Amino acid sequence: MKDFTLTIKEYARSQGADLIGVAPIERFSEVPPAHNPISIFPEAKSVLMLGRRILRGALRGMEEGTNLHDYDAYGYTWLEREFIPLLVYRMTQFLEDRGWEAVPLYPYPVEVMPEGIPVATDRPAPNVTVDFNLAAVAAGLGEIGYADLFLSPQYGPRQRFGMIITDADLEADPLFEGTICGQCGQCANDCPLGALAGEKIVGIAGRSFTVARVDYEMCARCKNGALPNTFHPEGHADRLGALCMRTCIHQLEAAGKVKDNFGQPFRKRTPWKRDSLSRVTVQGEPLPQRGCFDAGKSVAGGEKK
Ligand code: SF4
Ligand code: SF4
Repeated sequence: MKDFTLTIKEYARSQGADLIGVAPIERFSEVPPAHNPISIFPEAKSVLMLGRRILRGALRGMEEGTNLHDYDAYGYTWLEREFIPLLVYRMTQFLEDRGWEAVPLYPYPVEVMPEGIPVATDRPAPNVTVDFNLAAVAAGLGEIGYADLFLSPQYGPRQRFGMIITDADLEADPLFEGTICGQCGQCANDCPLGALAGEKIVGIAGRSFTVARVDYEMCARCKNGALPNTFHPEGHADRLGALCMRTCIHQLEAAGKVKDNFGQPFRKRTPWKRDSLSRVTVQGEPLPQRGCFDAGKSVAGGEKK
């Protein structure tokens, strides 16, 4: 299936995919049935992860604090609800046209409890939800950073994913063995609400990561760019435009840890901050030096453009 996998990837790129990874279904063997793609499609052989970048420019108004809704559209809601589903739909068509069964999934939040009752004693309750961040790790696309969000060597935290479960036995991608997160802790330090505190271990397919415990009740009250979950009112707030993750973008770019970099730094001045009552706590000071890890050690393998 090597040639067919290459053909699929080429087609995915032509349809706008920035990241494409294949995980053999065996990499999910330790995942509980309530979150395992094989519960949805027992004959599955492969999980295809399709990522599209969050445009760096879509975060500019968020970073400056002067335009929040264009990130909401281009960086979040339209990306999750339109651009990625269109890509996944076309990829599913591509597979079906060649006789393979292919199941398209969107990232329904895993923290939302099953909303139905089991249809048989040997099956988990609907809806089975798959952790797309861990699935992207299983597909070899990157790692889970300390802020408990997915990081790729191409974009750091700036991507979102769609998923297809298929019975096509695609050529697996190797697991990503590098390190992107510098464990600088600046995501936690910059959080005005102290929502990243304590640690836990997460992992899949033999890869494990020490990450911060995230207090999502705090994030739900965050006035620093966190947005309500677009898929379910009880889902976790989206943090990819929030201060914690914009700080991560800045840290990784400054340290040369991402391949997608630019002539000008992402963070140009001290970021604005608000407390849980929306009171401004920081504004207008000069940007302090934030060298958190050795900029010379680019384990992402990226050269500055
Ligand atoms: S979303 Fe807001 S409250 Fe949550 S970790 Fe990020 S900055 Fe802190
Ligand atoms: S800000 Fe630092 S510690 Fe936090 S996820 Fe990014 S690189 Fe890791």
